[in-house]
Amino acid sequence: MSRIQLLSPRLANQIAAGEVVERPASVVKEVLENSLDAGATRVDIDIESAGCKLIRIRDNGAGIDADDLPLALSRHATSKISSLDDLERVGSLGFRGEALASIGSVSRLTLTSNHRDDTSEGCSALCEGRDMDVQLRPAPHPRGTTVEVRDLFFNTPARRKFLRTEKTEFNHLEEVVKRLALSRFDVGFTLRHNGKVIHSLAGAHADAERQRRVAAVCGPAFMEQALFIEVDRGDMRLWGWLGLPTFSRSQADLQYFFVNGRVIRDKLVAHAVKQAYRDVLYHGRHPAFVLYLELDPAQVDVNVHPGKHEVRFRDSRAVHQCIFSGLHRALADVRPAAGPPPVATAEGFAVDTATGEIATQPGLGWGAPGADSAGAYAPRAYGPAATLAAGQAGEQVRSYAGLHPASLPVAEAPEAVPPLGYALAQLKGIYILAENAEGLVLVDMHAAHERITYERLKAARALDAIPGQPLLVPEAIAVSEREVGLVQEHAAVFTRLGLLVDVAGEESLLVRQIPVTLRGSDVAALVRDVLSDLAEYGSSDRIEAHMDEILSTMACHGAVRANRRLTVPEMNALLRDMEETERSGQCNHGRPTWTRMSLDELDKLFLRGR
Ligand code: ADP
Ligand code: MG
Repeated sequence: MSRIQLLSPRLANQIAAGEVVERPASVVKEVLENSLDAGATRVDIDIESAGCKLIRIRDNGAGIDADDLPLALSRHATSKISSLDDLERVGSLGFRGEALASIGSVSRLTLTSNHRDDTSEGCSALCEGRDMDVQLRPAPHPRGTTVEVRDLFFNTPARRKFLRTEKTEFNHLEEVVKRLALSRFDVGFTLRHNGKVIHSLAGAHADAERQRRVAAVCGPAFMEQALFIEVDRGDMRLWGWLGLPTFSRSQADLQYFFVNGRVIRDKLVAHAVKQAYRDVLYHGRHPAFVLYLELDPAQVDVNVHPGKHEVRFRDSRAVHQCIFSGLHRALADVRPAAGPPPVATAEGFAVDTATGEIATQPGLGWGAPGADSAGAYAPRAYGPAATLAAGQAGEQVRSYAGLHPASLPVAEAPEAVPPLGYALAQLKGIYILAENAEGLVLVDMHAAHERITYERLKAARALDAIPGQPLLVPEAIAVSEREVGLVQEHAAVFTRLGLLVDVAGEESLLVRQIPVTLRGSDVAALVRDVLSDLAEYGSSDRIEAHMDEILSTMACHGAVRANRRLTVPEMNALLRDMEETERSGQCNHGRPTWTRMSLDELDKLFLRGR
């Protein structure tokens, strides 16, 4: 080995660039974030050859003092924080002071800026050479900054080799612009590629303008099938758009989650979302969402990753709970009911203390567990709507169904027609045809009934702890000391789940009882999975998830089969049940249960009134 020597500034920056400048898209991310941090309200992005040849970003932000230009290009130089205290509650997107220096070390970078209103002023900085010396020259520029990055990776061939096709690189780059456009509605963005305008987004301030931007970025179909939600917990606010379960995707490619304006990918968030969609999505499908979480910056550590794609939450359980319960509740209300749901107070409801969920009393009419599920659909009295508006104490949950059929206007007449109307006939033993105030309603009777049955079975289970069955031979499991602690800490959770687990030693457990319905499953694997959930999220939905699968299968068998003739009162009873059943907008597999055609649509079909 040779003697130790200091790295040249350029080499040190190139090493840092290894982390933050992976491809043209990462340059765009860093430079755009700087524009947003500088308070820009307009950003113009010009790209040539997917950013490999040229990335030029111009903003109308605060600009940089000419004297500071060389500093802006040096490593460990930032205007955004000056103490550890600032770091712990940082509000800007950047703070590490290394992006421009890194980019400048692997490209030909020109930084032109003016921080005064006088357009004739302005200065340009070019960094070159091993020592990254900065050359300054006057360059008139309106207030704001232009960063020009040419020939990315011209001096780092290894990096250049990792670049993919122009199309792939541009897709990455466009994705970065989309994310930032979703993070700041108030800022106008234009993106041009090889001279062609790809996106032109005006600053959006009113609700309708924001919706238009989301539609422009995520596609109009998403917006048409999205629910707007808003959950305010006092110390935390979650809002945004949630794709309806029927608008699921084969890939997790339409999922945006922002924490205090920063887009992140996070395991905890992903888990909470997945759990909320658990029983309304077809297996293997992914939900679509654009969600914003706002909380005290001191509650989030953003200095976890140089690219800042990840964050660490101080109270991860509270965050998990906020996301899960907010989404779960909003999705539960996807059913053919209209207007704000009345708050349930009377008997006939039970609160599931674990989820804060209110379950409908089973045993009312058809479909109660234990009742024979031969597929008969007995009409039942239609009482006051058994809908609900629950949430954690002190938490407000609002959701609007957007353009989804669930937002049917209620007829204003004194004898209001129920949202799904009254049955007219049955088609081919599969569909129910009904008439409501707006026009024609079509229901897939098997799909609808399956969901109703399933929700009833779940409600029955939610009323009480899951019944357990003692094991003939208790099973010993070797675990860590920490896991033993979890068993002691969460004893009540285990009981609720139908599990009886004793501590047998410092590092061993003895399972004495498991849920009846999970007879014959791998006991050790089950307990380990529950423990790992408890360790990571403070709660476990494994058993519930497992049981739900079983209940779902049972519901499918119990639901009315195709080709069974239903009488009109039976059909009406099914429609009324749909209106009051949570998640009844889609069947257990995420397929829609009903659709409608308004009189207007029918008129169009027959070219009436033209
Ligand atoms: P960081 O963003 O972490 O501070 P950067 O290397 O990205 O580090 O930028 C260094 C500094 O240059 C910033 O702190 C900021 O003061 C200044 N700067 C960079 N881009 C802009 C811009 N578009 N407008 C105003 N100032 C900028
Ligand atoms: Mg920066």
